[in-house]
This record gives sequence, C-alpha cells and structure tokens, in this order.
Amino acid sequence: MIQNTGLSDLMMADLVIINGKVITVDDNISIAQAVAVKGDKIIAVGKTDEINTLAGKRTKTFDLKGNTMLPGINDTHCHISDWALTRPPFMLDIRFPVVKSIADILQMVAEKAAVSKPGEWILGEGWDEGYLEECLADPDYKPSREILDKVASQKPVVLTEYSGHRIWVNSKALELAGITKDTADPVGGRIERSPGTGEPTGLPYEKATMPVKQLIPPWTSKQRKEALLGAIAELSSLGIVSFTDAGVDREKWACYNDVLNEQFQDGGWTCRVNMLLMLGGFGKSALGAIKEALKHVGCRYNFGNEWLKVGGAKLVADGIPPLKTAAMYEPYLDGTHGLLVTEGDTFEEQEWNLREMIKLLHGNRLQVGIHSCGERTIDICHDQYMKCIEEDPWDARHYTIHSDFTRPETVEKIGDFNRRSPYQVGLNVQSPIKWTISDFMATVVGPERAGYHWPLRTMLDSGTHVGNSSDAPVIYPDWRPGVQGAVLRESKATGKPSGPEQCVSVAEAIATYTINGAWLDHMENAKGSIEAGKFADFCIIDEDILTIDPHKIKDINILMTIAGGRVVYDSGAL
Ligand SMILES: [Zn+2]
Repeated sequence: MIQNTGLSDLMMADLVIINGKVITVDDNISIAQAVAVKGDKIIAVGKTDEINTLAGKRTKTFDLKGNTMLPGINDTHCHISDWALTRPPFMLDIRFPVVKSIADILQMVAEKAAVSKPGEWILGEGWDEGYLEECLADPDYKPSREILDKVASQKPVVLTEYSGHRIWVNSKALELAGITKDTADPVGGRIERSPGTGEPTGLPYEKATMPVKQLIPPWTSKQRKEALLGAIAELSSLGIVSFTDAGVDREKWACYNDVLNEQFQDGGWTCRVNMLLMLGGFGKSALGAIKEALKHVGCRYNFGNEWLKVGGAKLVADGIPPLKTAAMYEPYLDGTHGLLVTEGDTFEEQEWNLREMIKLLHGNRLQVGIHSCGERTIDICHDQYMKCIEEDPWDARHYTIHSDFTRPETVEKIGDFNRRSPYQVGLNVQSPIKWTISDFMATVVGPERAGYHWPLRTMLDSGTHVGNSSDAPVIYPDWRPGVQGAVLRESKATGKPSGPEQCVSVAEAIATYTINGAWLDHMENAKGSIEAGKFADFCIIDEDILTIDPHKIKDINILMTIAGGRVVYDSGAL
C-alpha cells in the first residue's frame, strides 16, 4: 500500500542535523546549531528549534550532541593519483613515522627484493633525511647507492624523497639508465657525485631523475583504479570532500573518468575532484606540446560537473627551497640562487618559455596553477598573470602553487591588483609542510628568512584568496596539522616557533581549507561554507576547534563526513 504523505511532507528536509556547533564559514564566520538538507543541498541553517520544524515523517535526524561541524574540507593542491600509488601494496611506504632509520628502509627493501620477480622494480616513496636516525646522528651520513646495493644488487631500486624532487637509487638502476661518472648534468638537474672519484652517489636531483624514472614500467589501468578508490575512501575518513589533483596527465584523467563512469553508482566516489591538467608534461618542449594539445582539444576551465571537472592546467616553473632548487633573488646560505625548470638554455630563455605557456593557456581559457616556490619565480608568474588578465580579461583566477617565498612587495602588488581588477589572482600554500620542515629551512636560508617562509598573515592581510593543502604524496593529506601549523607556526620536531608574526586565527586557517579553496575552484557559490543553496558537504569533529588548545588540533577526531547529503564516512562514535 502506498502511503499518502501529502505535499507538505514532500517539501520537508531529507536530513536534519541538530544540537551542534556549526562553524558556517560564511562571511561573518557565524555559528549555527543545526542544518537542514534536501537532496544534495543545504536548505536551511539556524537554531535546532527552527530546523526541527523542517523535519517530517520521512526525515532522518542526526543529533550532533554538542559536537562541531565544519564545511567539507578542501585540499587545494595534491597529487591524489600519485599518492594512491605510493602506498602499499603498490610502493613501500618509507615515510616517517613508518620508518625511523635507514636500517628500517633497508629491511623493507630486502624483504621486497626477496619476494619480487627477477627484473622487477622495487619502488618506495617518502624518505626524509630530517627524520632518519643515522642522518640525524651524523649530518655527513648520506643515503647512497652502495647502502642499497648491500640489500638489493640485482633488482633496480628507486626510492623517491618525500618532496618528489630527488631519488635514491641503487647501482642497478643507474646502470640500466646509463648514468655513469661521464654523464653530464642536464639543464635543470644535477647528479650528485662523490668528491674523490666523481662517481654518481645514487642521488639524482630534478631533471637528472628522468633517465631512471622513464624506465619504470607504467601501472596498469586496473592497478590505478583500485588505488584511486582506496585513496578516495581514506580522504573521506579525514573529512576531506574536495581536492585538486594538480598535474593530471592522460592516464590519470582517463583513470578518473573510468572510475566515475564505472563506479559512481556504487557509491565509492565520495570526493569532488578538480583536475589541473599537465598538458605539456615536464619534458623538453613543454610549450610545443601544449600548443599541439590545444590544437586538438577545446577543453576550457570548469569542464565537467560537481564531482569531476577540469579546473585548468598546471605548469612547473622551479624546484623547491629545501633542495635549493627554487629560483631566488637572495642566495641560499651556500651562495646558490636556485633555477627555473622550464625549457631553455639560459634563465632568460626559460623565463620566456614560462611566460609564453601562461599566455597560451590564458588565451585558451584555461585557469593556470604554477608550481613556483622561489621569490623570483613567483614574481614572474604573477607578473605574467596580471599582464594576461589586463590584456585579455576573463575570470581566470590563476594562482601560484606553493608560493613559499612570496615577497612582501609581491603580496602587496597582488593585493593592489585584486582590488582594482575585476578579475583576481590567488595563492596556494602548504601549512602542514611548514610545520614539518621549519627547523630544516633555517639551515637553508637562515632563521630570519625561514621565519618568513609561507607568510600566511601577510597574504591574508592583502585580501587575496589563499588555499591551503598537503601536496600529498609530499606529506599525508591531513588538514588538521595544517590548521594547527598555520595558527602556531611551531616546528613539529622541536616546537620552536618560526615567524610567529605570520600566525593566523583558527577561523582564518579553516577558511584556507574551505571557502578559499572553493574560490580557487570557481565554486564558491556551490561549496566551501555551510549556507542554504550550497552542497551538503560536512566534516563533523569531536572537539570545538575554535576554543581547544591549538596544540591539540592535530589530534581532533573526525566523527563523520558527509558529501552531497550522503554519509561517506562514519567513525561510529556519534
Ligand atoms: Zn605538488
């Protein structure tokens, strides 16, 4: 028998969430108690009494019992397709605290070497000298091919550093790649050599890693799909509802597309994915490759739907400060200035190429996000963004990715531009990485400049939209240490403050993980805050993040994650 529910019941909410502290992240960061949801959208936000009036016979009720609810978290820069494959069973997880020493890593490599097939590549990712016992005890102790040869001499071993900009390989891998002491350093790369013999030590940097990486057999499409679904499920358990996968190549795009087509109905797709395409790759002639791609593909920014879309394109302009490969005006403590990694034999040629790529993508209506960490690189990118927007105005929202050492005068210039231009530019940062490397950065640029690393206070004061992120697989995609790090700017290892004048409030830090990211995605009207009309994306946590001791933010538990009105993670504790 069909029950007659009447029209009024059909107009009721599907779900009401009541009795909580709802941090809405609206313009006033106002606090509500309850939310009503119909379909995948929020229909009302207010007090529990008001929201209860929208509950009918068929309405589900969640009682938050005083717990706190945030908008779904947005990780604005990460490489989830890569992260998915850098975890077991696909790769050895050699991140701290899984491994604490080189001895731990060697044991894992030895175990893998014992069970893998002849010729099979042994891959791992995440090692960090700053967290390895042997390197901490003796700063001169470096990972080397000889150390790896002791446990795996017949099978190639490639262990990627946490940053992705350097690899640690054994002699077999160097042999297969044809890297010897006679191999010259490529432009944009360096082969580390022993001072006495000139022999490669097994630590190629940046572009010098390519001859090895090119030999690694590609993942199968089945492996990629399995890894992606596992990764998305883990992000849901962290309260993450949106992320930008930056640097999506043909295989990665196809994989997202396949999984969406084949498995969306099964419910395993629980995150909103924004892709920045890697149209030109990293190789020689990226500009030519982009030109060629755009001859055949008419894809613009925001192609797709709320679950999978193309935001624009990603470019890589320089290296990273910890390795002294990001292009700076002021030298690193060792006197070097870093480099650009775009095509060209001189810095000027490389800059010209970078500017041409930006112009080309801008003209083709693709938003541009550029890996740029050094102050000099950041200046080039933003200068060119502004020129492009002035000459050919549209709402591109280009931004620099990482933006580590954006100079105060550059931030001011960006702020001024954003105030007078109808179309603005943005910034992306990584507060959780600041937390892990702040002590180390003092050894690279000195304590004063390290204190200015990721100047979030200065950036937010300029009124610019700043999105926060993990850059996973660089570090685990957890937003909680990011909020804590942005608020305290204390070192994870020693607790030492680094640039306390750049601290921001908890509410501001939350905005960098929610509404600001929505703006970077051109989706600030659909997500990023808890307001009527937006998607019902929520992250429910067990502490009042606004009042808790900020040192405990990283230990807050995720109770439940809701994406588009559907529970996609439930800890069972609510
Ligand atoms: Zn990245």
